[in-house]
Amino acid sequence: MREIITIEIGQAGIQLGNAIWEQYSAEHSINDAGKRMNTVKNDGFNVFFEEMQSGQFYKNKKLKVDLEPNVIDEVASGPSAALFNPAFLLSGKEDAANNFARGHYTIGRQMIDKVSDSLRKLMDNCDNAMGFMIAHSVGGGTGSGFGSLLLGQLAVNYRKKQKIGFEIYPSPTLSTCVVEPYNALLATHWLLDHTELSLVLDNEAIYGLCQNKLRIKKPDVGNLNRLISKVISSMTSPFRFNGELNVDLNELQTNLVPFPRLHFMVTGMSPIFPKMDMRNAPNDVQKITDDCFKPSYWLVQYTEFDPSEDKYMAISLNYRGDVTSKEAGATVGWLKSNQKLYLVEWCPTGFKIGLNELAPACLEADDIGTFCKNAVMIGNNTGISRLFTKRIIQKFDYMYSQQAFVHWYVREGLEEAEFIEAREDLGFLEKDYLDVLLEQPTDDYFSDNTDESGEY
Ligand code: GDP
Repeated sequence: MREIITIEIGQAGIQLGNAIWEQYSAEHSINDAGKRMNTVKNDGFNVFFEEMQSGQFYKNKKLKVDLEPNVIDEVASGPSAALFNPAFLLSGKEDAANNFARGHYTIGRQMIDKVSDSLRKLMDNCDNAMGFMIAHSVGGGTGSGFGSLLLGQLAVNYRKKQKIGFEIYPSPTLSTCVVEPYNALLATHWLLDHTELSLVLDNEAIYGLCQNKLRIKKPDVGNLNRLISKVISSMTSPFRFNGELNVDLNELQTNLVPFPRLHFMVTGMSPIFPKMDMRNAPNDVQKITDDCFKPSYWLVQYTEFDPSEDKYMAISLNYRGDVTSKEAGATVGWLKSNQKLYLVEWCPTGFKIGLNELAPACLEADDIGTFCKNAVMIGNNTGISRLFTKRIIQKFDYMYSQQAFVHWYVREGLEEAEFIEAREDLGFLEKDYLDVLLEQPTDDYFSDNTDESGEY
């Protein structure tokens, strides 16, 4: 049996996790008390759920951790508390005060052993854990600072396990603190070496989707989380259900990440329309596929997107609902021949398709309308480097050039050299993305390594 452990860190990570959890429970027909209500076709629910007392009820394989108690207390006393194992709901007494260094060094260090012990127990309960999915924000103090500390530990203790991050990037519209660019830059520097795949969840873009597509005037984080949970449920559906074209965690990573550092993904989903517009649900495979390659359907805000300049290295396309492999294949051919997207020249195939016949469950609290099929695109696109440049590096440079707020970080144990190293690393990342575009397919490698007989 394959299993995946979910780790949620800090307020945003835990709240997003709650929304994802509701979505999974509904799709596997498990109620708040942990009882299975119905059997579900092709169900592989035990990837994320643990069977307690021989099928009497189910709890999730999940660790929630925060440096302060409020958000965890809400979960422990909330309506679905029965689904969580209290041993894996961990909180401390003092928060990270929006400071990466407090989450990573002072306060975070006091928690890390307790969290590592719990994680070991969680792993011991698994027969065959494939890897971890980690949800956190990079703008706050706990998600960024403690999140990167924990990722560092995972890299040492579980080196061979996959680590997939759901990273919430800060939005100027929803911003809760001025030092978010510092936290985001330091956290991204850690992500470069400590996750194998990162789904960039840009609050600015998701806020825009809620306003423009779901017509919610002033979206709150609950609206954002419910929308993200639909995307993540589609991304993980090939692991949770047995289907015709299934992708496992290793395959997903192998297909999407040609170079280890370039593992930050853009995601798009279609259809997205308000619940009251049910009659307008698009039902056409070509239309929903075409839409999910448009920036107006993406969970990352792409400024000045140019499809011929911003090229894909690889794409995973997941369909849910009544879509056949023939329809999916024909649609991908149509996308390519109509130049709806461009792949880098050295990677001309680039597509991985997943099919799952069960459409995402529609929940009572949803803002999004019900659909009988949807498409979710996860793309490794070079344009993502602009998010780092325009939204993080530039803002970091303005503040850092004045040494503004730096003393708060130094006081909590961060050396200034770490700022400089992280900044340089993100500069190299920008260059790495540029290099990918400049590369041409070449046989130099083979001619350089070929002997006279033509063998390599
Ligand atoms: P931490 O607990 O110290 O890590 O702080 P937070 O997780 O609250 O991080 C703050 C950042 O996360 C800000 O950019 C917030 O806008 C964002 N944020 C906070 N809560 C949520 C949430 O539930 N969902 C989403 N999408 N973003 C959130």
